[in-house]
Amino acid sequence: MNPLPDSGRKPKNIRDGNLRLMLTLFRKKGILSILEASQLSGLSKTTVNKLVTALLAQNKLLSIGKGPSTEEGGKKPELFTFNSSYAYSLCLTVLPSAIRGSLFDLGCNLIAEQAVETGDFLTYKEAVDICADLCAALLRKSGLKAEQVCGVALGCDGVVNAESGTLLSSSRKSWGTSLAIGEDLRQRLPFSTTVYVDTLFRFLGYMDASMADNAPGKVITLYADTFAGGAVVDAQGLVHGPNGYVGEFGHMPLEPDSFSICSCGGRGCFEALVRPDNILSYAQIIADDHPDSPLHTPAKSGQLDMHRLFAAANEGDSLAQAALTKACGYFATLIQGLTLLHDPDEVILEGLYSNAGDFFLTTLNETLDALPFYKAPRATGITYSHLTFASDAHVPQNVALGAALYVADDYLNRRLAAESAI
Ligand SMILES: [Zn+2]
Repeated sequence: MNPLPDSGRKPKNIRDGNLRLMLTLFRKKGILSILEASQLSGLSKTTVNKLVTALLAQNKLLSIGKGPSTEEGGKKPELFTFNSSYAYSLCLTVLPSAIRGSLFDLGCNLIAEQAVETGDFLTYKEAVDICADLCAALLRKSGLKAEQVCGVALGCDGVVNAESGTLLSSSRKSWGTSLAIGEDLRQRLPFSTTVYVDTLFRFLGYMDASMADNAPGKVITLYADTFAGGAVVDAQGLVHGPNGYVGEFGHMPLEPDSFSICSCGGRGCFEALVRPDNILSYAQIIADDHPDSPLHTPAKSGQLDMHRLFAAANEGDSLAQAALTKACGYFATLIQGLTLLHDPDEVILEGLYSNAGDFFLTTLNETLDALPFYKAPRATGITYSHLTFASDAHVPQNVALGAALYVADDYLNRRLAAESAI
């Protein structure tokens, strides 16, 4: 009989795991005493005491003095908190019209940010140079030293192989394909650090999934506005796939014979069907079927916008409801496909449609339930994002926040724990 495989549960591994558990607990809960950390973690007070002592010595936790005495009038407990200033991340978002740099501490608190407006003719080299210069400028502005930076995250608009740091295909067609953007930026940076490259939608999804009610279950995030995409996040983190295509949901062809041309060049992709101009064009086409609707004239004259459509649908307007029901059909078809591929616990809707309100979500659930596939009770919940998407400005802010969380998690949960394990 072959010996049993090594379970990995050696004392050192258990201690490393417990150190990570403590760090996670303090990051989530903020301020805790030894007793509270023991109760929440299920570890003994003696073990927690040793772990907290080790983390204090490593400067990852801070003592913040005594808390109020216990109800029984016992000794006042010492309180500890996660040291957010232990390290910092620089997060860059490459958007169609700008590149934004944001500096965060490990608690994902924004320290400084700066953006550079970019024109249509920005070259790849110029973009990498702007990213590197933004990192240097943010460090100067904040007075931090390069060695305090634990990672640089680069969120790109396009298809990304995160494993190799390659931008396989950018929305800026003139850049070409298969760009080693992670390595190019690393070489251009004035200091040495880990560079993380991923899509804007994956960083966004990482943030949203961390806030999901059933975290760390399997979550799919689905962003939809002028562009569409998303992320798959499971207990191990972001799912990329060997070629980096997981999350490119916007380009699922739902109606290949459609006249709606997508930004990818394809026909009838989800993105092309649900983007605002397509839904508003549909409202214009059906407007005469709803002559009494207050939206009839603005729809006919092209004066309607999606926020007005959402509001009117929630107030019972028949034209707005018909237009959004059309969009719900596309969402339902895509979500059915994603369920078959990924079987998520939850699908979180991000972007413009996360502002749609009750009518859209109720109709989407009804549409899904009416599909033959869902004759069995449906287990996947559909929810709106926990993030705010009230204006376009919220998108890069949310992406940067997700990137900061991604870097902090990777640094604390894996790299740092492995490096500093005693
Ligand atoms: Zn497409």
